[in-house]
Amino acid sequence: MKNSNILNNDYFCIIMRIDIITVLPALLESPLSHSIVKRARERSLAEIVIHDLRRYGKGKYRQVDDYSFGGDAGMVLMIEPVYRLIEELKKERPYNEIIYTSPDGIPFSQKEANRISCLENIMILCGHYKGVDQRIREHLVTREISIGDYVLSGGELAAAIITDAVVRLLPGVLTDETSALTDSFQDGMLAPPVYTRPADFRGWKVPGVLLSGDPAKIREWQEEKSLSRTKQLRPDLLHNTGNG
Ligand code: SAH
Repeated sequence: MKNSNILNNDYFCIIMRIDIITVLPALLESPLSHSIVKRARERSLAEIVIHDLRRYGKGKYRQVDDYSFGGDAGMVLMIEPVYRLIEELKKERPYNEIIYTSPDGIPFSQKEANRISCLENIMILCGHYKGVDQRIREHLVTREISIGDYVLSGGELAAAIITDAVVRLLPGVLTDETSALTDSFQDGMLAPPVYTRPADFRGWKVPGVLLSGDPAKIREWQEEKSLSRTKQLRPDLLHNTGNG
């Protein structure tokens, strides 16, 4: 059954639900409690629930990690707590995707953010230490996403990045001032430069066309700048069919 409600501004909207599984809930609280994501949550356009994996840990010490078989250095997140939490969540609603954040996942992109923003319920599992027991990846996870070719200490910052990029695309989250359509990557190009007052700061002037009041001319200038910046800075985008 779809979660839905009628908003004040008269359109029918599905609330996206994002469940994030972590051993460090505190790391996620701040990035998901400000600005656009905060507004989306307050306006019930996105429901974001952070789960402390430790609550599902084993024994008195709520153990969630153990030494890796084979004797390599570093702890590995155990399968049982993750399995129990995921199964409990799955009983409550169907999930379109169970994402694991991982350096060897598919590279995160605007295209992937657009795709995820059309889903209804997703989980994001944050790894820690050496990673998670491989059987979690094989049997429970449906998508593995990397935010770049470097290694973080845990998946929390990656989960925050994915959540932020997705939530701002949900219908009703962005206002005209923050519209996603003019952002970089949305049409395979970088965004044009932007300026604000004053029009002249110590002789550093805003391009005259932006002050002309002629929307067609302004649009043409912006498109030209988008193209030249993309050619100069990210020529790969012009040939790219997108990843993910
Ligand atoms: N041993 C792993 C790295 C573990 S880092 C390896 O070499 O591939 C600990 C956790 O941080 C990972 O389980 C993952 O959830 C997260 N992480 C680290 N780098 C990441 C990246 N580039 N993108 C997404 N998640 C990342």
